[in-house]
Amino acid sequence: IVRFDKVTKSFGDTVILRDFDFELTPGERVVLMGPSGSGKSTVLRILMTLEDIQDGVVYIDDEPLWHEGVGNNLKPASDKHLRKMRGNVGMVFQHFNLFPNMTVLRNIIEAPMKVLKLSRKEAEARADELLARVGMSDKREAYPNSLSGGQKQRVAIARAMAMRPKLLLFDEPTSALDPEMVGDVLQVIKDLAAEHDLTMLIVTHEMGFARDVADRVCFFCDGQILEQGAPSKIFTDPAEDRTRQFLRMVL
Ligand code: ATP
Ligand code: MG
Repeated sequence: IVRFDKVTKSFGDTVILRDFDFELTPGERVVLMGPSGSGKSTVLRILMTLEDIQDGVVYIDDEPLWHEGVGNNLKPASDKHLRKMRGNVGMVFQHFNLFPNMTVLRNIIEAPMKVLKLSRKEAEARADELLARVGMSDKREAYPNSLSGGQKQRVAIARAMAMRPKLLLFDEPTSALDPEMVGDVLQVIKDLAAEHDLTMLIVTHEMGFARDVADRVCFFCDGQILEQGAPSKIFTDPAEDRTRQFLRMVL
């Protein structure tokens, strides 16, 4: 469903991704780990069309994301193409990014109404179902600033799901939470993973969670995937010294 083909991403003179190749198959749950500043968020932001790329091609469902055209005849994507492609992807951020001036319900129905053109009734029905699923029905009319971090993140997950994305991205969804809230949010993600055959790409350093949810763990560093495999393999018997050092640090 996702393919990075020799992608280069730089900020000015600093190269973050160099000839980066990466694939996600439909329904796969992949955890991305790696040192701070290595470019994990950048990979997600490229898929969310929040960062452009300098070279190579990114595909979603075999369609170029940052380009239009076929074969070798690709030109940079128009805003319209980017908007269309973005509809395939949902993202949950470290800092929730809820709209502070909108109620929980409004946060969730806004994009389905504006972008998917659902009626208010349809959007609310979808939102209510999701709020129930993340255990937040009683906060439907609350404003984000009255919620705990864990509650905000559960709303953010419901908001991303309301767009029915093919691909759901999580960027350190629990790293800004107080420890007692982490478990709840991880459980919500695990439940979603169990109920849907949604493809998920998750940046997290929560190894217990990664073990439960991931089909594959990728250790990312220096703009490349240094090592990848089943969590049982990567966490207990990594091949690379860099991976071993990193795991010792986060354990
Ligand atoms: P962390 O674990 O700390 O979240 P990360 O792996 O997610 O790190 P990124 O946020 O993807 O790392 O950043 C990769 C590199 O790109 C960093 O060195 C960062 O300073 C740089 N970078 C990110 N965004 C920009 C930007 N808009 N302009 C310039 N440099 C940037
Ligand atoms: Mg990051």
